[in-house]
Amino acid sequence: MKVLSKYPSLSIQSEELVSKLPLNAKGLHRINFADGRINLSLVYGDLKETLSELKNPFIKYDAWYLDGFSPGNNPEMWSKKIAACIAESSHSETTFATYSEAGVVRNNLERVNFKLSKIKGFGDKRRMLTGKYQGKYKKVTSTSKSIGIIGAGIAGCSLAKILANRGHKVFIFDKEEAPSCSASGNPLLVTYPRLSSHDSPYARFSLTAYLFSSKFYDDMKTKFWKKSGVLMLGFDENSKKRESDLCNARQDTALFEKLSKKLASKKAGLLLNHGGLFFKDAGYINPKGICQDMVDHEGIQKNFNEEVQDLLQEREGFRFKTSKNEYILDQVCLCNAYMVEQFIELEGISKKRGQVSYISSSKTLENLNFPICAGGYLSPKFGDQHLIGSSYSKSYSKELSEKEHSENLKKMKIILKEGLELNGGRVGFRTITKDRLPIAGFMNGIYINAGHGSRGSSSAPLCSEYIADLIDGTTLPIDSSVAEAIKPDRFKVKN
Ligand SMILES: Cc1cc2nc3c(=O)[nH]c(=O)nc-3n(C[C@H](O)[C@H](O)[C@H](O)COP(=O)(O)OP(=O)(O)OC[C@H]3O[C@@H](n4cnc5c(N)ncnc54)[C@H](O)[C@@H]3O)c2cc1C
Repeated sequence: MKVLSKYPSLSIQSEELVSKLPLNAKGLHRINFADGRINLSLVYGDLKETLSELKNPFIKYDAWYLDGFSPGNNPEMWSKKIAACIAESSHSETTFATYSEAGVVRNNLERVNFKLSKIKGFGDKRRMLTGKYQGKYKKVTSTSKSIGIIGAGIAGCSLAKILANRGHKVFIFDKEEAPSCSASGNPLLVTYPRLSSHDSPYARFSLTAYLFSSKFYDDMKTKFWKKSGVLMLGFDENSKKRESDLCNARQDTALFEKLSKKLASKKAGLLLNHGGLFFKDAGYINPKGICQDMVDHEGIQKNFNEEVQDLLQEREGFRFKTSKNEYILDQVCLCNAYMVEQFIELEGISKKRGQVSYISSSKTLENLNFPICAGGYLSPKFGDQHLIGSSYSKSYSKELSEKEHSENLKKMKIILKEGLELNGGRVGFRTITKDRLPIAGFMNGIYINAGHGSRGSSSAPLCSEYIADLIDGTTLPIDSSVAEAIKPDRFKVKN
């Protein structure tokens, strides 16, 4: 089932479409064209389940392409029930197209209020069917809004970029002097998935977010994204079990490839003691560079060294009281990590200290081609150093800790035998949630994009796209079970 949306006057070249198609992985995938002005929602799965997961009384699709074998071979696809679901998710300008012109197709679509036309067929088909929905629900066209974003880490900057591309006037605030000075301030962040062999909202979010972020950075065409691939070593009983579960669940090599010790060493440019799974769409970002690229947009007003001290919901909009000024803006999105609690009461969220260590490069390490993960991670060279990480600790100190350096070095013994020369490091605070999923959605009139834990570079772009779609009232990039799993008040409901 393919669902198209928005701006039909912009055309997509078929080569571009094919190059952007995601691999076959259950769930909803958002593919953007023309800077996000055309969205393709591609859903893999059984129509009977997926259509109900797309259903949302406020979200209507602009165009449907119905492509599901002939009614003789696949009667369930063309049933009255499916036609009714399509109608429920359509507005007064929604169109559809299908190669089939069978009687049952025509009858079921007419019955739910589609006006049909037969036109010349595509390829070797003599005729095909198109139509327009005659329902009352008016198409929602989003208008340009003024939107304040609090926090200029990877979450805030990716949201600012998406909203500005869509024509909104964005004001981004950060109390620091530049973007990406807090958790997002490491010299590099590794972008890779946390996969599971079982289907669950958690697994679906992790996979879709990872694939979305990789494409999002590709589309930016920035030098601060290196799509080098990432190798996850199978080095102990747990990691080997996870590896074999994943390989059993997925036999093709579209998502990852199992590499022997020899092949992995050759590809990595480093002699390794173990093989593992290689993820080709993964890589690493320079977050400072990429966040700066994201906010360098004429639609974004950058307010650095400006702390938002108070936020008041008034009739005309939100009053932002900052350390320098006051603003009235239509909407607000909190992208200020664990500091969201300054403005809203949230359960299930906390901060967790972490430290990365820098080590000198060497003859053995200098040709490392991609990050290697094995408990901790080792990065390719940046400058003349490599980054290793990272620790997890209960302390709230901002000082570097010798103990945490030692922990990082110890983890590297799985990857490297040689002694390592320590050069320094950096301390940061992750925002973690009880279920390890981010917090994204709408609560008490405010949008929230936070809780990105240890994987912000993979999870933030999809959450930002989701928030932008909620603001615009358009089709969503995640299905309803994933939206439910990441909603801001989920811990309160459980309690
Ligand atoms: C040691 C360590 C290693 C990590 N390694 C990786 C990795 O390899 N890969 C990966 O993907 N992730 C990694 N992470 C996680 C990643 O860094 C985070 O998930 C991500 O940076 C979170 O981004 P954010 O935008 O949500 O928050 P932040 O980057 O923390 O941004 C929040 C911003 O809000 C601002 N702010 C707060 N309150 C206000 C206010 N009132 N007014 C104005 N501004 C305000 C802050 O100044 C800050 O700049 C790591 C984290 C740590 C600590």
